Amino acid sequence: MRVFIGIGSNVDNPEGQVNAAQQALRILPKTHVIASSSMYKSPPMGPQDQPDYINAVTELETLLTPHYLLDCLQQIEQQQGRVRGRHWGERTIDLDLLLYDDELIADARLKVPHPGIGERAFVVYPLAEIDADISIPGKGLLINLLADCPRNGLERLESK
Ligand code: AMP
Repeated sequence: MRVFIGIGSNVDNPEGQVNAAQQALRILPKTHVIASSSMYKSPPMGPQDQPDYINAVTELETLLTPHYLLDCLQQIEQQQGRVRGRHWGERTIDLDLLLYDDELIADARLKVPHPGIGERAFVVYPLAEIDADISIPGKGLLINLLADCPRNGLERLESK
């Protein structure tokens, strides 16, 4: 299955956190990392009195089921010491299952495509960097979402 993971961090050395999460994805069972976007810097959503975020998107090829993969993502968050604070507040690491093949999933634990995928510059731009021809189930072509998505201060960083 072709899967895309959104990664974000804004505390405790965010670039290091994103790198560490990408390393952890690399050693998941039945999974290969196919590509990663550049890292991006984006202003916070929600409370503004918190540092900018570092974001990236990683593409995987995996045989893991969506819910098992979510377990794995949450385990990586735990390993990296994620503490749940205020809603949309600062976070050591956030891993979102953005897309799982062309599946639409909406249950109590998991919504795929990830809600907000089309409106968030820090998701749309890195996804398009990996593959501009993706289509998002229920939302249409990424290229069209991109055209309607202002960068909102998103900056691509030079080094990966
Ligand atoms: P967050 O605060 O973004 O880490 O949200 C975590 C919660 O979102 C968890 O309880 C997950 O079960 C739920 N969730 C629903 N859909 C997704 C998804 N596509 N990727 C990650 N978490 C999800």
